[in-house]
Amino acid sequence: MQQGAQDEDLSKKLHIPIEIGHKLISKLIESKSLSYSPYSHFKVGCCLLIKNNETTSDGESFYSYVLGANIENASYGASICAERTTIVKALTSTTTTTTTCKDATNWVCIAIIGGCDNDDGGKIISPCGICRQVIREFVPLDFPIVMFNADASQWECKTMEQLLPDSFGPDHLTHS
Ligand SMILES: [Zn+2]
Repeated sequence: MQQGAQDEDLSKKLHIPIEIGHKLISKLIESKSLSYSPYSHFKVGCCLLIKNNETTSDGESFYSYVLGANIENASYGASICAERTTIVKALTSTTTTTTTCKDATNWVCIAIIGGCDNDDGGKIISPCGICRQVIREFVPLDFPIVMFNADASQWECKTMEQLLPDSFGPDHLTHS
């Protein structure tokens, strides 16, 4: 499928302007380059799209992009995935958009991309079980998670609930 058509379909699905969908994909591709993966050579990037409370001077909605990537370690178990890197970054950010980033009600979607450098397209990737649980902590069950293949030529969008059905979350620990 042609890239332009891809962007348009994605924007419709996420109810965002076409130019924001286009920028989301370019930021996502950029995020993959942040990967530190000398052991697996499997680079994963993640982009959290946030709709800010403020608008631009011409009244347009203003979006932020928090990027993350997988960071491996010589002690393999100490590695961290792109999705969790991204969420931790958003929640602990000290930039001017800190308040907006930390408020998950402003989060529009999480997008991920991944593959090896020599992958020609490759399969669409999906978040691991640990990351699904971490994302679940902060988002509603209908939150969209967009998964791409290595060169962003294919994507699939699923909700949090589709990726983690019958999940355990913060609502189970609230005492009434
Ligand atoms: Zn993970």
